[in-house]
Amino acid sequence: MVFEGTRPFESDTGSGSLQAILTIIDPNLGGSGYLERFAQRLPEVAAAALQHLDHDDCDTACYRCLKSYDNQRHHARLSWPPVTSTLEGLRHDPPEAIALSAQDLHDPRPWREAFEAGVGSPLELRCWTHMQAAGLSPAKQHPIHDPETRRLLTIADFAFPDDQVAVYVDGASIHLGHVLRRDRRIEQRLRGMEPPWTVIRLDRRQIDLHSQEMVDRIRTALGPA
Ligand SMILES: [Zn+2]
Repeated sequence: MVFEGTRPFESDTGSGSLQAILTIIDPNLGGSGYLERFAQRLPEVAAAALQHLDHDDCDTACYRCLKSYDNQRHHARLSWPPVTSTLEGLRHDPPEAIALSAQDLHDPRPWREAFEAGVGSPLELRCWTHMQAAGLSPAKQHPIHDPETRRLLTIADFAFPDDQVAVYVDGASIHLGHVLRRDRRIEQRLRGMEPPWTVIRLDRRQIDLHSQEMVDRIRTALGPA
């Protein structure tokens, strides 16, 4: 595993963080096959990670999820909410093997493009592109706090904070039970706030096949300009 460095990642609250790029290299000539299996099973790993992170009373990191005695000196930096949308995307978008050619070196993969655009997945990037083309400019990866406890409740994939509209991009129509429960819990909290948030969930079908309807739906939620 090669650590290729970091790049700055600006959140909408202005709090900057760093995103790391890791490259995994199989040193065996011709490959041992482990990397392929690793890649094929990434959706399972992402689903398991999401399950691991589905716990109450934890805003950033605790000993139940990310903290351990060994990583004590990094505790202040540990925070799981920024990665959940990426994991949810990974859960549904298995990695694709691409042929190694000179062109690939200059043609970054969709995930890298998505990260560089400040969104969590290629599907989110396509969603963002449709919204931009329609003149909509939501905040990306927008943190929403519980007004009473001041704790981080959720990071919406996109949000129009002035109109209290939150947009979530689902990787696929099939949800794992526990994720659905957590999503519903968060939706209920958002809808119960004063003033209430409007929550819009979008799936691949809506984004890729019915983008005009998708934009109309968001416009309706935003109300008259
Ligand atoms: Zn925790």
